[in-house]
Amino acid sequence: MRRLDSFPIDNQRFLIRVDFNVPMDENFRITDDTRIRAALPTIQKITSNGGKVVLMSHRGRPKGHEDHLSMKHIVSHLEKLLSHSVIFIDKCIGLEVETLSLSLKAGQVMLIENLRFHKEEKEGDLNFAKELSKLGDVYVNDAFGTAHRNHSSTSVIASFFGDKKCLGYVMSNEMDHISKLINNAKKPFTAIVGGAKVSSKIDIIYRLLDLVDNLIIGGGMAYTFIKAKGGQTGLSLVEDEALELAQTILHDAQQRGVNIHLPVDSVNADKFDNKAIIEYTPIDHISNDFMGLDIGSNSIDLFSEVISRSSTLLWNGPMGVFEMDNFSKGTKAIALSLAQATSQGAYTLVGGGDSVAAINAFNLAHHVSYVSTGGGAMLEYLEGKTLPGIAAIIED
Ligand code: AMP
Repeated sequence: MRRLDSFPIDNQRFLIRVDFNVPMDENFRITDDTRIRAALPTIQKITSNGGKVVLMSHRGRPKGHEDHLSMKHIVSHLEKLLSHSVIFIDKCIGLEVETLSLSLKAGQVMLIENLRFHKEEKEGDLNFAKELSKLGDVYVNDAFGTAHRNHSSTSVIASFFGDKKCLGYVMSNEMDHISKLINNAKKPFTAIVGGAKVSSKIDIIYRLLDLVDNLIIGGGMAYTFIKAKGGQTGLSLVEDEALELAQTILHDAQQRGVNIHLPVDSVNADKFDNKAIIEYTPIDHISNDFMGLDIGSNSIDLFSEVISRSSTLLWNGPMGVFEMDNFSKGTKAIALSLAQATSQGAYTLVGGGDSVAAINAFNLAHHVSYVSTGGGAMLEYLEGKTLPGIAAIIED
């Protein structure tokens, strides 16, 4: 496999596709810089060995040029993290950008404008990819978060570099960690799946049934399973069209010898609001005019016990509406149980947008074995799908 360490670095221009799609507040302060920090080792490896770095990324979903999504808002934060100045240019293609890239000196870092200001990026346009390719001698894909996309900068561009392309450290780390779960998980292996909807996680649930001993299901999606089992779920988020599917999953899990753990109690609210009136009930006895927004304390104990006797753990999706204080307790408790299991020697991987946001919000990211930077990409890789961003590097 082509990895960064197998390339001579001296004096070449390394065009790196990074994932700097980070959240910002209204004052352009970065509220979670995990993805930028993750890319630092790749950048520093190149700069400290006399290479030149050209960074490219997307941010958000702009329709044309949208100033608030400009990469210029990243520059000062990146400079602070790198302890190094960064040259920014408010374009991604054209003679001016190319000339600037050619003028870089050893160890210099340059950042180009948001790739998605050009609609061609998402279309996987060959010409746009060709223009971008003029900015580097070697192409490095280090954007795991977009590796499942077939965009100009993530996969199409690779064809212009022949052998001079490789995976950066973020990519190879992600692949190594996820492969460990697929091929080498120490048993018992427990997956914890939460979040809003069953329908959006069917593929991953089925994949997990092949891999795990225990599957803990929490969050909004649990109520569909509870209703499928005949419980009263009140106004909770239930996908009626997925009731049959939930039953099939429960049945298939039993056939495959996977223990499914559903919540036994629920924290319910009379409206979707942090200040709502709250009731606590068994999970299958929610009042008609209440909705379940978090798992209850008995469920926390039950899930924590399963976690404590597991050697490998994967967590994807919150246990409740953790964004609201009053319904964050279940998610926080699971994050703490994972941290504790890690300290006792378990291997713990957290992946998928909202569980990563949750573990960061509770300041526990450093207390688990690995936090994946990819949401959809991580799930697709775990499902065994070929990711275009990886295939473009490792397959010719
Ligand atoms: P997902 O993107 O599918 O992982 O879903 C994450 C979202 O699910 C978060 O924004 C949570 O607030 C939401 N969520 C978790 N539990 C519930 C629940 N019981 N009812 C409604 N939404 C929930």
